[in-house]
Formats: sequence, C-alpha cells, structure tokens
Amino acid sequence: MNYINIHTHNSKLREGIVIYNAMNINDIPKAKNNFYISTALHPWYLKPELWFNPLNDYEEIIAQDNIIAIGECGLDLTIKIKPDVQKTVFNKHLQWAEKYNKPVTIHCVKAFNEVIAMKKKANIKQPCIIHGFNNNLTIAKQLLTAGFYLSYGEALLHENSNAAQAIKQTPPERLFLETDESEKSISEIYSKAAELLEMDLELLKKQIEINFNHVFIRE
Ligand SMILES: [Zn+2]
Repeated sequence: MNYINIHTHNSKLREGIVIYNAMNINDIPKAKNNFYISTALHPWYLKPELWFNPLNDYEEIIAQDNIIAIGECGLDLTIKIKPDVQKTVFNKHLQWAEKYNKPVTIHCVKAFNEVIAMKKKANIKQPCIIHGFNNNLTIAKQLLTAGFYLSYGEALLHENSNAAQAIKQTPPERLFLETDESEKSISEIYSKAAELLEMDLELLKKQIEINFNHVFIRE
C-alpha cells in the first residue's frame, strides 16, 4: 500500500503518492503517475499587482486537468495583507472549487471562525482540507463539525503538540497526512500517526487511500 502525501513543496519527493503544491503558476511541472499538482494564490503573496490583474490567469491554470486540487489558499490574520483582500481572494478560490469540482487545501492562521463562516456562507460542497493542522481540540471539533478534513504533518512528531492531541479526536475518515516544508519523510509521519491513533499502520494507509480516492480522485 502506498504512502500518500497530500501536501509538499518539494517537487523532488517521490515516496508513494504525492501532491506537489506549486506556489508559482509560471513554474508548474507536469502531473505524472502518482505525482499530482495543486496550486493557488497563497495569502502571503497577495501583492497588489497580482491582485488587480491576473486572477484570470489563476482561474485558467486551476481549471486545467493537470491540477488535482486548489491550494494552498486561505486566510492568515497574522500578516500585513488586509483581511478584506485575503477574504476576497480566498472566496474566489472557493467559487472555483465549486465551478471546476476540485477540493480545496486551506492555509489558515488565526482565522478559523472566518474560514468556517465563509465555507458555510458560500455553501461550498467540495471537500475542504485544513492543511498542517496544529491547533487545539476546540478548533479541531469546530472544523470537523463544519465538515472539514484535517491534514497533519511534522508537528505530530512533537509529543506535546496540539496536532498530537487533535489527531486522536479526528475520525480516520477525515484524516490526511503531509510533509509540507519538512525534511521528515512521509513514512515517519505515518508511523507516528499510527502510534498516536493506536491503529495498525497498514490499516491507516488503507484508510487514507480511501480518503484520497474519495476527495481527490473521485472514485
Ligand atoms: Zn504548504
């Protein structure tokens, strides 16, 4: 059974099935067997010149068959870029998800209430995944109740992290794993997740494959 890594910025990773997250729409590699691509306009890079003009370029790229998921996009309320601008752009991505039937991988920092409200208000039916989840149980529960999937990464390896606690309360059918920018391997993150969930590693791999096929491949 394959390891499935739903979010990495390392285009060289080839362990199992990988979704590579391209941050630059002018440099998107070709999807290949077991190597998938996601892209979006990340809230950190919402420069005014990007904002006023080329959102159409983003839509065109995101619509392509090569792109399996829209992300990472979302809200980060700790950065200087105005929340209103971030919300407008994020909302566009949510609309594209519905229009092109693609799941959304979400970057969310100190904006969980807003992200939950926006998904609800826009009546988004496409799967929404909060990537790199490392927040407390209350937030985890709110997100799960609102229908989000949670993807966990390197933070699981730290025994006292929020992620290591929250994963225990995450139903396996709402779970994904990822390496993001970490140097750790996806197999290491799977082993830790299996230990925390007290679940057989092969069963965990099977469950995440079912989730992946359901959310990303649409089988
Ligand atoms: Zn990332």
